[in-house]
Amino acid sequence: MSKTVSTLFPFDKDPFSLEQMEQEADQARLLTLERFGKSKGVYIPLYISNFCENSCTYCGFNKNNTHLRKTLLPKEIEQELLYIYKRGYRHVLLVAGEVNNEKYHKLLVESVALATRIGMQAISVEFGSISDQLMLELLNAGADCFVLYQETYHQEQYKKYHTAGRKSDYHYRIHSIERAIKAGFKKVTLGILGGLAPIDYDAKALFEHLSFIKQNYWDVQFSLSIPRINSAEGGIAGDFPLSDIDFTRTLIAFRLCFPEMPILLSTRERPEMRDGLLRICITHLSVESMTAPGGYSNSNDCAHEELKQFNISDHRSFAEMAASLARFGFDLHTKDWQMELNKGVFLGNSNHP
Ligand code: SF4
Repeated sequence: MSKTVSTLFPFDKDPFSLEQMEQEADQARLLTLERFGKSKGVYIPLYISNFCENSCTYCGFNKNNTHLRKTLLPKEIEQELLYIYKRGYRHVLLVAGEVNNEKYHKLLVESVALATRIGMQAISVEFGSISDQLMLELLNAGADCFVLYQETYHQEQYKKYHTAGRKSDYHYRIHSIERAIKAGFKKVTLGILGGLAPIDYDAKALFEHLSFIKQNYWDVQFSLSIPRINSAEGGIAGDFPLSDIDFTRTLIAFRLCFPEMPILLSTRERPEMRDGLLRICITHLSVESMTAPGGYSNSNDCAHEELKQFNISDHRSFAEMAASLARFGFDLHTKDWQMELNKGVFLGNSNHP
């Protein structure tokens, strides 16, 4: 590895050179094109429950919020999965708050088993710092990617935002990615929540964490996502708002450091931001996201406003998103080609309706 975030990215450099950023953006664009071609992978989040025992102050699901709570029943999970499957999605990100309860854990495993049965080709799970045993059960049920954000690597800031529950244990959380790898996950997604701590601090720490995985687990594919704090019910803005320009510089730096690494982008970002970043360094994106349990098949239910984790900023449909990207010569694909090749199956593209 020849580049590091620190050498590439003197965030405190004064004056800031737009010219240098443009050159780096151009290199990042070429690297992304060379490694990933003109296709962008699409995934869709599915929220299973908004109960949570943690108290992240920036999150609508935090246990101190008095808003409506809901955990989907197995038949509701199936209904949601069928709904998004019929819409053409084959990569689902299952999301739930952390609840340390056996019945709840069984439901999480069942949600993965249902996704597998329905035919999802890629199943990512974002269920927090779960136990080794639960990781194994999720793997056995068909999960293939473990998603966990450290949120911030800055320990003092971390303490301030995570005041209760298992997530308040910084060290337990930071070791969870490695535990997931040891449990058998071959794909992991790491990230920080932009806005909680100075971005140069978090970017450098995240770089170290990714480098550690790369050096110690050569057969694990790691990917990256840096969501930025967005308004949430009862939530707060971060102490260090991440500007558009620093956000872009950070993502460019990570692309230059890890040319082969998938970088994900959520619907938290505005359409113009997404279109710009997709042309530079993003390889996977979520589309048509709902951040409340049961948000897809019952999307007219007004309770969803109260159930959701955060507000999204890009409300475009899949067709609108595809049309927007087509203007730049990109296409969206809902299938994980690498998984198909690994299985020895080549079925052709799954066209989105
Ligand atoms: S960010 Fe995750 S762990 Fe924290 S309160 Fe929200 S759902 Fe719970």
